[in-house]
Amino acid sequence: MGDVEVRPALLQATPDDLRAIKSQFDPAWWVTERAKILLPKAGKVDFVRYPYMKAVYSDTHPDITIIKGAQLGFSTWAMCRALWMLTTFNCTVIYTFPTREQVSEYTAARIDPIIQQSPYLQSRIVDVNSVKLKKFRRDPKDTSAGVSLVYFQGAAKESDAIAVDADLVIHDEEDKSNPQVIEQYRERLTASRFKWRARLSTPTIPGYGVDRSYALTDMMKWLVKCSSCNAEFEMRFANEPGDARSNIEPHDWKEVVEGTLPRYKCHLCGTTLTDSDRAGGRWVAKRPASGLPRGYQVSQMAAPWISAGEILFSRANSTWERDFWNLKIGMAWMAGTTAMTRAALQKRASDEPMEYTGSGYFMGVDVGKRLHVIVGKYDENGSPRVVRIDSLPWDPDGDFIELDEFMLAYGINTCVVDRAPETGMARRFANRWNRPGATRVYLCTYKDETSNASSRELRFTSPSGDYDKARAEDVASVKAPRNETMTMVANELLQRMILPRPDGSPPYEEFYDHCWNTKRSPVFDNGMDATKAIESFVWEKTGPDHLFHALVYFYLARMAPRSVAPPLRGIISSSRASRYQPMLPEEDEFNPDRGRHAPVRVQRVG
Ligand SMILES: [Zn+2]
Repeated sequence: MGDVEVRPALLQATPDDLRAIKSQFDPAWWVTERAKILLPKAGKVDFVRYPYMKAVYSDTHPDITIIKGAQLGFSTWAMCRALWMLTTFNCTVIYTFPTREQVSEYTAARIDPIIQQSPYLQSRIVDVNSVKLKKFRRDPKDTSAGVSLVYFQGAAKESDAIAVDADLVIHDEEDKSNPQVIEQYRERLTASRFKWRARLSTPTIPGYGVDRSYALTDMMKWLVKCSSCNAEFEMRFANEPGDARSNIEPHDWKEVVEGTLPRYKCHLCGTTLTDSDRAGGRWVAKRPASGLPRGYQVSQMAAPWISAGEILFSRANSTWERDFWNLKIGMAWMAGTTAMTRAALQKRASDEPMEYTGSGYFMGVDVGKRLHVIVGKYDENGSPRVVRIDSLPWDPDGDFIELDEFMLAYGINTCVVDRAPETGMARRFANRWNRPGATRVYLCTYKDETSNASSRELRFTSPSGDYDKARAEDVASVKAPRNETMTMVANELLQRMILPRPDGSPPYEEFYDHCWNTKRSPVFDNGMDATKAIESFVWEKTGPDHLFHALVYFYLARMAPRSVAPPLRGIISSSRASRYQPMLPEEDEFNPDRGRHAPVRVQRVG
């Protein structure tokens, strides 16, 4: 930080004066000594009960991300941070919750009682009745000094992102908010001299929301010290029985029932960790570089008032294991059956390299800046087997002529292509390959499932009647229920599918990334304050996901009504060197239904 011009009055100050001035800008001091915050049930903000909170309260880092277990006191922190800011500077604060309904609920239950119980805040609040907008005066005696504003907003829809400039934006329960809206709120800070941002949430799935932003911070961890061997470590719950790096014992509630006394322990020397050992921890940055955003992560295992028995009991009683990891341990987590990690996909790999020719295969194509292609078939055991993973550029005037090579090289039985965004081009590609009663190419549209049963049907349709007359508008298509189909494919990928030998090629590496970017996340019954009953799951992307969708289309191609088209003949050879410049065969050889229809005309463009 550069030099700041010192006001003449400060040069006359005594060391005591300076300490007093400094503490007035310490949010932790403000909470306990100045505003004397009282919480509706818990009373005073208690840094003895919440030892890990002291440093977080005092921290005035401009960009803070917090991953937390439930009920660890961080929402109170965020609220106090907003109130401190509003009464210390003339400023504007935006405070978001996942939905608008939660705004009213939360201000009535948590914020209003705090203001009512603090004479300091009472004397400064200007407009007491508004739920969504509250105004404070920094100095109660000076009514000319202007007011600070705090807007409580939802973060579900684009229309929630109000167009006011802010100095501090706080996102509570960010992982249940709409990420696009969270990004829009960031723009509100552009004109501020503070540009402060605080985001906090129980985590959801790996690589999403606060888990993603925490990974970009200095990653502060609450380390506990063993009084016997002096080792310092983060409290950890081992997922597997027998995992040596566990700070809790036994592993299962069952063993507690059978008589084992639950305890926290040092994983190195086995000494029991007392409550005061856990209370005596300290924050240490895993990545102590300066200039990074600040990140805090803390588990309920670090809270001195939560016993080892309670942790084991709540694990045994979590209906959803994921809730245990998210809410108790404060870790992003995904069920094993949907965890499309690189390691999980590598387990599905065979020793067989990719194949470049064959017959009777299926193909899925996702259309983006490139064509993302998956080719495969069933093996002799009935397992779906991928033989080609590719990503190729396409000619904007070519009607996907690039795919013709694949159609021929693999004697494609059925191909499913993304209908959007290049609908016209996809339709011309499909109609080039389809014949009445012999459909080879379907265009896919996803539909979102509703309570309506037909929305969950997988439906294939083919044009009927005179194909040549119908070709302009009519096209073979498949409508697939989005979530259900993606879940099927994710499970198939992890359980049954056989992948080619990993060859380090860019498309194969991309395939790993695109699967990893495809996440399944729960839709809760009734917002964040409900009992966490999961209503359903929804697939979300956290980055490019084209090759995963190509895999979905490959699945749909296998689900299509059995094609009555005769097998493609005249298979051409294709080498890696020539794969982006398809070698088109003679027209006569190219026509799949030689002799029965006019030859298909394919024109190279450019
Ligand atoms: Zn030890």
